[in-house]
Amino acid sequence: SARHQGGKQYAVYDAAVHAERLANTQLVADMHHALDAGEFSVHYQPVVELATGDIVAAEALLRWTRPDGTSIPPMQFIPLAEQSGAIVAIGGWVMAQVCADLSTLHHEHGLSVTVNVSAHQLRDPKFAQSVLDLLRQNDVPGSALIVEITETVLITSVVDAATSTEQLQTLRDNGVRIAIDDFGTGYSSLAYLRQLPVDILKMDGSFTAEQIEQGAAKDLAFIRTILELSRILGLQTIAEAVETATQADRLNGLGCDLAQGYHFARPAPVATLLDALRQRGPLPVIAVGSVV
Ligand code: C2E
Ligand code: MG
Ligand code: MG
Ligand code: MG
Repeated sequence: SARHQGGKQYAVYDAAVHAERLANTQLVADMHHALDAGEFSVHYQPVVELATGDIVAAEALLRWTRPDGTSIPPMQFIPLAEQSGAIVAIGGWVMAQVCADLSTLHHEHGLSVTVNVSAHQLRDPKFAQSVLDLLRQNDVPGSALIVEITETVLITSVVDAATSTEQLQTLRDNGVRIAIDDFGTGYSSLAYLRQLPVDILKMDGSFTAEQIEQGAAKDLAFIRTILELSRILGLQTIAEAVETATQADRLNGLGCDLAQGYHFARPAPVATLLDALRQRGPLPVIAVGSVV
């Protein structure tokens, strides 16, 4: 009967949920060893100036490779790291790695690096000072660092929001720029713009990629509006997940300054980024689907 079938489906679903929970519990346990075991690495994706194709910055993206060579995607382990609190230690490691890499990337190539920072990290009243210490230890100016935050930063509580804003302000007072990541997807993105000290909007990939390719009037209107808002507020805009030349051309035509995406380059180890920078020629355009 239908009822019986429904019951069975529910049982199957329940077992799947249970299996996923077990797997997640194992991942959280593994994550604690992974940091000490050196299983994490930072990859960099170039951010280019659309008008010239010059690499001006790079986004640091965390990678986790298990001893057996398999990789776990950030979308799978970062939410778990957030829930378990492991993101604070892992994020601290990412920042230390980035500041060390910046001593070459910034001093030799004038690059800035943009780093994803979790709401948990910003809740630590010593966060900003720890970042400034890392910058100083590596003789890197604050202007070489961009901190990316998402809307989760202020959601948690009023106390956290005050601490987080203060941390961001301290960083900004020292030249560090603040970017709002995935802009256009959060229900309260506009509220963040009003409350937080912000320098850069990162226009979410899901928001730009396919739509702009079609050139649909309504979709272009949203992109134009974000770019216009950016201009009025004196912010820079980085378009994310640009996958084709058509998208890059349209964004350039619409006045968007900066972009990143598979059309330009995939995230890769720092050595690959340095190779691209040292060639000094035009930026190698890597086709979608190719592996770096
Ligand atoms: P995000 O910060 O929005 O990063 C951009 C994501 O888009 C990256 O996924 C990048 O590999 C991917 N991407 C780049 N170009 C393209 C493109 O042309 N098309 C498409 N479809 N995707 C593209 P990734 O590396 O898997 O990271 C996923 C998310 O994990 C990041 O999204 C960020 O929210 C989070 N994350 C990554 N590293 C860190 C980290 O060190 N700390 C924290 N807290 N979060 C991180
Ligand atoms: Mg990001
Ligand atoms: Mg993003
Ligand atoms: Mg994202």
